[in-house]
Amino acid sequence: MKTIIYTCPYVPAEWIAAHGLRPSRIIPDAAGTTAQAGRTEGVCPFVQGFINEVLTDKKAGGVVITTVCDQMRRAYDIIVRGCDAPLFLMNVPNTWQNVSVQKLYIDELKRLGRFLESLGGKSPLDDELAEIMLDYDNARISILTAGGYLPARQYAEIVVAFGCDGPDGIPKNITESQPRIEGVPLAILGGPLMRQDFDIFDIAEQAGGHIVLDATETGQRGLCAPFDRLGLRDKPLLELASAYFCGIQDASRRPNSGLYKWLKSRLADTAVRGIIFHRYVWCDMWHAELQRLKDWTGLPVLDIDTAGNNETAKQRTTNRIRAFLETLQ
Ligand code: SF4
Repeated sequence: MKTIIYTCPYVPAEWIAAHGLRPSRIIPDAAGTTAQAGRTEGVCPFVQGFINEVLTDKKAGGVVITTVCDQMRRAYDIIVRGCDAPLFLMNVPNTWQNVSVQKLYIDELKRLGRFLESLGGKSPLDDELAEIMLDYDNARISILTAGGYLPARQYAEIVVAFGCDGPDGIPKNITESQPRIEGVPLAILGGPLMRQDFDIFDIAEQAGGHIVLDATETGQRGLCAPFDRLGLRDKPLLELASAYFCGIQDASRRPNSGLYKWLKSRLADTAVRGIIFHRYVWCDMWHAELQRLKDWTGLPVLDIDTAGNNETAKQRTTNRIRAFLETLQ
């Protein structure tokens, strides 16, 4: 079975799986930010890591890249020159409030479907799509239920495993009750994390905190909204599009008020006492949200900017998280 790789949360794994192909959401390794493959100056480390990961992946049967941010769009231009696997550039509109852009997203899913069929995928029946959506939805519910009970890093890695391998990638006993973790409850908010950035979960824990809300793109915030079970049976593609396009809140949305609405309800559920704001240098989109977040929230905000694979930056991050937690304890 061919594997289709992507990283953007607006690519529905269920749609790829329904075509009989294996969806795999990749999270780049920070080592890729200093590798030579597809080396490009001035792009965000996540994009650089993604470019490297795609160009060195010899097993992918196809690659899907979206237009959610300008740097990812640029990644497509770079990857297309050096990648052997077929590429698909999926237009994901930043505006979302009117029916025509929602229809455009659905049309893009249909176009993606034709691309998948050109790679040997089959055209899915509604029932088949609905079954797959149900499986994924149940897995997402299990993951969300486990939040707050698992160590933050383990939880984040389960979300990544789900993106990489679908429902089969998550442990079977994930919803069994486990003792709650102690520590100052924190949220982490920002764009996507690379694998090495997951050290932040350990650093916070060692400093007496516990990240109870992973509002990064690679965490809970990157999971689509729950499916309406009736809509899923009735018109599965419409339900899929709605849960992804209207259900994932991101800084790239115009307007992005939904991000703050989503955050408000999650913060209320979790009694968070401080927010770690994580962003990469050269990511203007998330940098622009920093001041707005500070003005909007009454909570202390720690700004962590990173540039990828760099030990000095890691030590700096460690020191800043420790100092932040000292002020909260
Ligand atoms: S971190 Fe920023 S620049 Fe990098 S991919 Fe995400 S939105 Fe784009």
